[in-house]
Amino acid sequence: MSYDVEKPDEEWRAELTPAEYAVLRQAATEPAFTGEYTDTKKQGVYSCRACGAELFTSTTKFESHCGWPSFYDPKDTDAVELVSDRSHGMVRTEVRCARCGSHLGHVFEGEGYATPTDQRYCINSISLRLAPEEG
Ligand SMILES: [Zn+2]
Repeated sequence: MSYDVEKPDEEWRAELTPAEYAVLRQAATEPAFTGEYTDTKKQGVYSCRACGAELFTSTTKFESHCGWPSFYDPKDTDAVELVSDRSHGMVRTEVRCARCGSHLGHVFEGEGYATPTDQRYCINSISLRLAPEEG
């Protein structure tokens, strides 16, 4: 898989904070209920913190009470890449930025949330940057 935005590892390290690098480039997970966007209700667009691609909008953000920002749909289907993840003894679906391949979180299905898709994109706050709408 090649991405539109590809950089040598040392460049990502230089551009991102250590915490951002650990999540975005090494697929770490920020601790639950600590991310800056977990309970954010501001309207706006969430972009990839690594490359700036627009990934999610506040209109599909919902309260999942899981400790991470949760969306029921990406902004555009092809904004994210879904990859089977068998790490940590679980079978999960990893969500990556389709433009730069950075790790965003995981998507879960069929949990019974009252959303149009029955999907929960469980995304690390630190992978995103919110551009709030004016007003
Ligand atoms: Zn990206």
